[in-house]
Amino acid sequence: MAALRSAPAPLVRTKFRVGDQVRIIAGRDKGKEGRILSIDSSKGRVVVEGLNMVKKAVRPTQQNQKGGLSDVEAPLNLSNVMVVCKRCGISRIGFTVNGDQKTRVCRKCGEEL
Ligand SMILES: [Zn+2]
Repeated sequence: MAALRSAPAPLVRTKFRVGDQVRIIAGRDKGKEGRILSIDSSKGRVVVEGLNMVKKAVRPTQQNQKGGLSDVEAPLNLSNVMVVCKRCGISRIGFTVNGDQKTRVCRKCGEEL
């Protein structure tokens, strides 16, 4: 496979994973923590459960016959969230390599993440 990729979308490399506990370090919900629901690596954004809520107008659907305004999570920029280490608090994510096994660890204390 020597084909060149056309239209190289600049993917933001992220060490985050869905389900990670993160803290918001900037903006309206600064200091709050939640779990990552989804990651958009092409835009460098994450959606964190229960945080950065915005009102969104929704059309009536089968489930929601009235429609109207609903609270939804707005995406946050990756640079505004940090992972929360169980042992030492907010930290950066690093890796240790053991043979061909790559393990995510806390860069401060070495705790596996
Ligand atoms: Zn740690």
